Amino acid sequence: MPDNFAIRGLLDWLRPRELAMTRLLGEFVRAESPSFNKNAVDRFGRAVAAQWKRRGASVKLLRRRERGDQVRVELRPGLHRGGPQTLVLGHLDTVYEVGTILRTPFRVSRGRAWGPGTLDMKGGLVIALYAVDALAGLGLLPEKRIVFLWTSDEEIGSGSSRDAIEREAKRSDTVLVLEPAAGLDGRLKTGRKGVGEIELIATGRAAHAGLHPQDGVNAIEEIALQICRISRWNRPRRGISVNAGRIEGGTRTNVIADHARALVDLRAVHARDMRALEEKFRALRPILPGARLTIRGGFNRPPMERKTSAALYAKARALAKEMGVILEEAFVGGASDGNFTAALGVPTLDGLGAIGENAHSPGENIVIRSLPERAALLAGLISTDVSR
Ligand SMILES: [Zn+2]
Repeated sequence: MPDNFAIRGLLDWLRPRELAMTRLLGEFVRAESPSFNKNAVDRFGRAVAAQWKRRGASVKLLRRRERGDQVRVELRPGLHRGGPQTLVLGHLDTVYEVGTILRTPFRVSRGRAWGPGTLDMKGGLVIALYAVDALAGLGLLPEKRIVFLWTSDEEIGSGSSRDAIEREAKRSDTVLVLEPAAGLDGRLKTGRKGVGEIELIATGRAAHAGLHPQDGVNAIEEIALQICRISRWNRPRRGISVNAGRIEGGTRTNVIADHARALVDLRAVHARDMRALEEKFRALRPILPGARLTIRGGFNRPPMERKTSAALYAKARALAKEMGVILEEAFVGGASDGNFTAALGVPTLDGLGAIGENAHSPGENIVIRSLPERAALLAGLISTDVSR
């Protein structure tokens, strides 16, 4: 474990680089990379890859046909084959369509850097690069394997990245996730709800609403009744939430609708609640005579339970304290790729990215001062043997 001098030395090395970090963040933010735009994500991924190559790392593109290619970075490969590795996780994609940068350009004011993706999570990508620069600059790179995996579809559920994430996580004894910190006090994320999506599809029978209403079975009514039923499954105190977020169906007012569907968001704190909720959905039966009901989907990301983060959080807290920062923890409802790695039982700490506000909205920004601080913290965690 680095001594007190080392962690403060990392911060001293990084502070004068705040402006350079902010400039690189500007470059990254201008290279827009919406999850669904493969070309754009690929372009940004290559820009990130170039930064790592410049630092002498071994970079591999993991090609994907539909989503953006992922970027796997390994420091000093071949040096420590077989040993346990530290995995640093982040994503290249953002929730913003190409052109957003024209309406909300990257800018710096009042100690903040503003722009789409600054916080979630291009700031995190900059932090990782400079954490490694600081370690290398001070001769503190540890003797273990360090892999950085930059995925391409985190914002849309990580369908094309999950395999690579789990493969790397299984070889690792530590996973550090660069999602934004919780709140302006920079809390680390030590627990996350599991998240899923269920689609309810109702099929009824069409009929003329005026002439033969008795011949019809109204699929919209079926869906409405089902939503009333499932909304009673909410247990806020236990951390279970069920929310019908989208509903559609029918054609015209004078036709009894033969088709309707609803998309439902599911969240749970505990894995066993998650499984129980899925079973309840699968056991749903139609309420209206003559209606049919189909259930699709389920939980996508399992919950990240605190026990897999506790030891890492304690280390991070101790390191931060040496820098004069009191670091708290947070449990959050949103999921990240850390949910996958924690579910495998691999110690995972999330929220190590930048500190800022308004992710996924036009006012997204980061606190510039957090860039060197978080880079020092990440560097400290990378160079710490956290398995001990
Ligand atoms: Zn994110």
